[in-house]
Amino acid sequence: MHTGAAAATLAVFKAGHVKFSGDDRKIYESAPDVGRAFCASCGTSLTWETVLGDEGRLCAVHISTFDDPDVLVPTAHSFYPERIAWFDIADDLPRHAGFVAGIEPLQHGPINGTLSGR
Ligand SMILES: [Zn+2]
Repeated sequence: MHTGAAAATLAVFKAGHVKFSGDDRKIYESAPDVGRAFCASCGTSLTWETVLGDEGRLCAVHISTFDDPDVLVPTAHSFYPERIAWFDIADDLPRHAGFVAGIEPLQHGPINGTLSGR
C-alpha cells in the first residue's frame, strides 16, 4: 500500500471527468498503465490511475483530498486479499479480488462473518 495506511478510500471516475486545479501534480508510474499521483509540494497522495478494458482510463481519487469526504459513500472493497491480515472493515459491502468493475465479489462482509448477529 503506497499510502502507508492499512486502508485507503478512493472514488473512481472516468479520467476525462476529473479536472485538477492549482500546481501540476507529479505522477509516479508504478506499473505499465498505472500512475500514482501526488502533490509536488507536500507529497499528499492524490490519485491511482489506470486503463481498465472497456472502462477506459480511470482516475481513482483519494477521498481524503475532497473538501467534503462525506459526499460519497463506499460501495465496495477492491484488492481485498491484499489487505493487511489483521485488518478488516465492519460493513457488509462486497469484497473484490481486484478492481471492482466487471468482477464478481469474493464475498460480502468481513472474512470472519457478517455484521448481522453481532
Ligand atoms: Zn500539497
